[in-house]
Amino acid sequence: MKLVFLGPPGAGKGTQAAGVCQRFAIPHISTGDMLRAAIAKGTETGLKAKVFMDQGQLVPDEVLVQMVKERLSESDCVNGYLLDGFPRTVKQAEALDMISKPDVTVDVEVPDEKLLARLTGRRVCMACKGTFHVTKLGDATVCPDCGGELIQRDDDKPATIQKRLDVYHSQTAPLIDYYEKCGSLKKVDGDQAPDKVFEAILVALGG
Ligand code: ADP
Ligand code: ADP
Ligand code: ZN
Repeated sequence: MKLVFLGPPGAGKGTQAAGVCQRFAIPHISTGDMLRAAIAKGTETGLKAKVFMDQGQLVPDEVLVQMVKERLSESDCVNGYLLDGFPRTVKQAEALDMISKPDVTVDVEVPDEKLLARLTGRRVCMACKGTFHVTKLGDATVCPDCGGELIQRDDDKPATIQKRLDVYHSQTAPLIDYYEKCGSLKKVDGDQAPDKVFEAILVALGG
């Protein structure tokens, strides 16, 4: 199954990806995680991307298209993929159609007023990349899954979050129409408990 997760920053795409990938035995390809790994390694792509990411802007299409093209050619993608965070522009969606057209696009919908609290409270594990929320962490200072260090992403600060939401509405939301026209769009209510969102995604994917 070739699957794309659409939805604004904080909609729960990363959170849902783990279960969905396990169920369908496909790799979770998060372009945000790939870019952050490139930054951590200090590669040329990473250095270039960091400037855009710190400002809450999109990294140029050419960089992302090349990165995803290479990743989808790896052997673990033979049974499909789950793309999380790509495509984010119509140009990227058109490029993906040429590389490997998705079967289903799931739009995880959450109203903007809920996203700010989700993003300001998000904590991520440096070791396993797991995503958590301060309201669920209680006193925990390390990752509940692996004991790794929990951090707040630089771009999860209020000023950058607002910019990312603006960018989402102007550049990424048009993809909802794009995929609706392709006939591959499924809408899921992301404004409910995580296990309910998971069930709704499975229903959208036909079990
Ligand atoms: P995305 O990958 O779409 O940016 P995440 O999966 O990182 O979103 O989730 C953003 C934040 O919201 C995280 O702190 C996560 O723990 C929390 N979260 C995810 N799903 C839900 C949900 N259904 N209800 C409430 N909070 C959620
Ligand atoms: P979120 O969890 O908030 O949806 P991501 O981790 O997917 O955020 O992305 C973080 C940042 O990485 C984005 O704000 C953007 O700068 C960059 N990025 C990730 N994917 C893409 C993409 N497909 N096109 C352009 N920039 C991207
Ligand atoms: Zn962890």
